[in-house]
Amino acid sequence: MTELADLQNRRLAEQERIRYLLNSVRAEEEASLKGGLDTVAWVKEEQCIGCDQCTIVCDDDAIELFDSPLLSPILNIDVNKKAKVLRDPCTGCKLCVLACPTDAIIMIDR
Ligand code: SF4
Ligand code: SF4
Repeated sequence: MTELADLQNRRLAEQERIRYLLNSVRAEEEASLKGGLDTVAWVKEEQCIGCDQCTIVCDDDAIELFDSPLLSPILNIDVNKKAKVLRDPCTGCKLCVLACPTDAIIMIDR
């Protein structure tokens, strides 16, 4: 029979394996993105769900959420949120691109 300690050890090993894989994928993704002071983040509004993740990771206060009317006629929600990047404070660090769950943010030339 599997002992509790064995099970915990296996779980820890599996967690480490998954974390390692996710970190490698992220590192590859980040390396493939352009960034730096010559670039600026851009939000594709149609893909933004207003989840606020990008504003949390942006250390430069370069992203704001604004109210936007919901386009769907079947949902009765007064206000929907969308993100907007402020060009001047954006340093091109790419953190928001990696944080966005819907791939709504891209890096463009400044
Ligand atoms: S690229 Fe960096 S500084 Fe620019 S909006 Fe995204 S998180 Fe903020
Ligand atoms: S993280 Fe992406 S989906 Fe969420 S508010 Fe920012 S741009 Fe929109």
